[in-house]
Amino acid sequence: MAENRSYLTELDAAIGDADHGINMNRGMQAVVGKLDTAPSADVGAALKTVGMTLVSTVGGASGPLYGTLFLQMGSSAAGKSELSPQDWSAALSAGVTGVRNRGKAEPGDKTMLDALIPAVDALDAALAGGAAFDEALQRSAEAAQRGMEATIPLVARKGRASYLGERSANHQDPGATSSWLLLRTAAETFTAKDGQ
Ligand code: ADP
Ligand code: MG
Repeated sequence: MAENRSYLTELDAAIGDADHGINMNRGMQAVVGKLDTAPSADVGAALKTVGMTLVSTVGGASGPLYGTLFLQMGSSAAGKSELSPQDWSAALSAGVTGVRNRGKAEPGDKTMLDALIPAVDALDAALAGGAAFDEALQRSAEAAQRGMEATIPLVARKGRASYLGERSANHQDPGATSSWLLLRTAAETFTAKDGQ
């Protein structure tokens, strides 16, 4: 988020209020600080800390939505000190369902869900087809990227960009972009660890 702060803010400047990169960077810096001072062996508890920190530090629409994503992932992973590929898939799926319920957006509304939903579906399909976790994570991140790119022609039906109506078309959604960045980073980070 720090590396892509300006990029996300530029995207939000086109169809929003130019704060998405600032919001996400502020939130994630606070998250890193919290996890450093209060590390947890319980993955679910750590994810809940991430969610609560995002809710309290990120303004705008994306704060409560990303907060919900991580809080629901935390509930799904509660009490686990390690996540299997299936646990990760279940957690991500619970998180995305939470975002959907909270924001009431549908696929194609030009939101973060347009990256998140295809990512969950691709992850599930890859694992069901017997793919190794590395490969499944990679496919999930690629699906998020395609979903993000597919937001470009869409007219926004939720959030601030929807105020622009047709003028929101031909721009990539900032929230779908930050979701792709998160999933790409998850794929890179988890893959780097002994290929587990
Ligand atoms: P704000 O729009 O309040 O300034 P941000 O700029 O941080 O908040 O985040 C904007 C992003 O939030 C959008 O690009 C979109 O992806 C996402 N978003 C907005 N409303 C919704 C919603 N109802 N459901 C899912 N995502 C949403
Ligand atoms: Mg904004």
